[in-house]
Amino acid sequence: MSAAAVTVLGATGSVGVNTLDVLARNPARYRVEALTAHRDVEGLARLAARHGARLAVVADPRRLDDLAEALRREGSDAEAMAGPEALIAAATLADCDIVVAAIVGAAGLRPTLAAARAGKRIALANKESMIIAGPLFHAAVRDSGAVIVPVDSEHNALFQALPPDFHRGLAEVGVEKLILTASGGPFLHRDAASLEAVTPDEACRHPNWDMGRKISVDSATLMNKGLEVIEARWLFDAEPDRIEVVVHPQSIVHSLVAFRDGSVLAQLGNPDMRTPIAHALAWPERIEAGVKRLDLARVGPLEFHPPDLERFPCLAIAFDVLRDAPSATVVLNAANESAVEAFLNGAIGFRDIPAVIADVVDRVATCPVDSLEDIMDCDARAREAAAQRLAKHD
Ligand code: NAD
Ligand code: MG
Repeated sequence: MSAAAVTVLGATGSVGVNTLDVLARNPARYRVEALTAHRDVEGLARLAARHGARLAVVADPRRLDDLAEALRREGSDAEAMAGPEALIAAATLADCDIVVAAIVGAAGLRPTLAAARAGKRIALANKESMIIAGPLFHAAVRDSGAVIVPVDSEHNALFQALPPDFHRGLAEVGVEKLILTASGGPFLHRDAASLEAVTPDEACRHPNWDMGRKISVDSATLMNKGLEVIEARWLFDAEPDRIEVVVHPQSIVHSLVAFRDGSVLAQLGNPDMRTPIAHALAWPERIEAGVKRLDLARVGPLEFHPPDLERFPCLAIAFDVLRDAPSATVVLNAANESAVEAFLNGAIGFRDIPAVIADVVDRVATCPVDSLEDIMDCDARAREAAAQRLAKHD
């Protein structure tokens, strides 16, 4: 068997680096085709050299010469390309079998959807693209034969616990509930008032997972779980009422599926993204991922609690939006990206994040989301509304 060629979109990020670690542990099985990054040409060139990539792409079109220079310095013979079209080229290379979608935010949509339309096997970490364009991914999978395996740990757990023919319909295969676990983030036990003065670094210090800054803030507000509810809705074609959230601070049970006969199947493991990444790469087979083995006798008690929607209003907003018009999830995602960026830049406080999102969701009218262009327009409209709201913030 020849090695499968893998492209990693967002290779310099937390999921990207973990993916390259898993690939390097399985050299007979995988080789690296293309790697991409936003602006960090040095980091990208270093990874391209270390992993023998054939193509390196930087999203920022002004950094092409810097990338070529950095690749030379690192001794990599990868070809250099830059700009949004180059990202799409990397995602659809004829020679590539598997695309790991690990760009953060709506910026990942175009290349990830292009990979789906090209019929690739996709290891999907970029939840935002599924959240804002679920129906387009469904159509792409139907037309191209693409296979999407979720990397997000909860959805990967659900994928593992679901029967293989779940695509026939969840009710059809006896599934009553999809139960997403939430760690509760770093502020699980803090009272609402004390969250006023939280700093970006505190919000990014997750108790169980080491992740990029945007998703870390999402985890602290619980918007991450809200986004994951919407992600589950599209990945598994689940009605909103079939999806539940339970807080599980130890992050050992990654999610559960409850069936009509009273059975509940869970997937467990130490919190290390290399497990779902390895599963998404190799499914239906299993490969070594370098993950510390779970010793249940030593992990101690596992707790489960209902989520507190009053202290963490973001989760409530996401559940509301899920029952709203389809464009509402696009607006929610854009408003959240804008608010989190403003928080990380020190422009607003932690507790302003849900307030800004709720305002933008209320303010932006329903818009069509039938095509990629529609979605990008709706996303732009929501970002504009968020910018206006943020400009008024004192
Ligand atoms: P990160 O910030 O660490 O990395 C993001 C990557 O995307 C980097 O390579 C960056 O260069 C690239 N990027 C950023 N903006 C870009 C743009 N505008 N155009 C092109 N490339 C761009 O993020 P992460 O934590 O690795 O998360 C990546 C995705 O995976 C997110 O959607 C996140 O929600 C999801 N996810 C991450 C984890 C985790 O453990 N980190 C877990 C579950 C899901
Ligand atoms: Mg997750």
